Amino acid sequence: MKRRPLIAGNWKMNGSSAFAVSLAKELAAEPAGAAEVLICPPFPYLPAVVAAVQGSHVRVGGQNAWHEPPGAFTGEVSMDMLVDVGCKAVILGHSERRHILNENDALINSKVRAARAAGLQAILCVGELLEERDAGTTNAVLDTQMTGGLAGVDAALLDGIVIAYEPVWAIGTGRTASPAQAQEAHAHLRNWLRTRYNPAAADGMRILYGGSVKADNALELLQQPDVDGALVGGASLKAASFLPIIRAGNQAAK
Ligand code: PEP
Repeated sequence: MKRRPLIAGNWKMNGSSAFAVSLAKELAAEPAGAAEVLICPPFPYLPAVVAAVQGSHVRVGGQNAWHEPPGAFTGEVSMDMLVDVGCKAVILGHSERRHILNENDALINSKVRAARAAGLQAILCVGELLEERDAGTTNAVLDTQMTGGLAGVDAALLDGIVIAYEPVWAIGTGRTASPAQAQEAHAHLRNWLRTRYNPAAADGMRILYGGSVKADNALELLQQPDVDGALVGGASLKAASFLPIIRAGNQAAK
């Protein structure tokens, strides 16, 4: 089945307004290719980045949001607010939110459902810690995160969901999963979707790889049969390192 690659940049808590607009403009100036492109800047820069990429193929997303409707949630941002400023997507359950901010599967699930209800594409991140991989529990950890993250999500809502497999030991460490390790985990996740939902849902789901993706390893990862794109942190902060990954996505379009 043909799945359009998605190359998503997670800027994390980096940049300034000048940096954000300049990087967004550089990315928007690149001609559109076969891969879909998404950038996720910090909240304060979203409106300026949306304006900077307007009319281009580049879409903008949030890195997180709160699941409740607007109200007394000091410091939080609602899904509707992301939509209001022009976001099309939101990253949910990123390992930094799971492990630094203690988000659990139940909270992440509420966020996934709220994102879909607001019409946002939800990028649900899953991935094991190094000790879990070493203990041979990777698949069990992924199953728990998928079961929890997608609780109550029926097949009709899956169209607007993307899974990102991000082994925690590969995020920001320079230690990438080998193409074979990535493929093995992605195939496992697709199989989980086949069992939990149905073959069409599994075949249609895009599963991104994230974890130290760089210009020089992107193509081989993206050419794995079950790898449908990349969620990129560090290398998404410079056009010189992100554009080659986008081009690899264009080249790998299956
Ligand atoms: C990420 O933040 O999702 C990520 C994969 O980071 P990095 O590419 O820097 O490992």
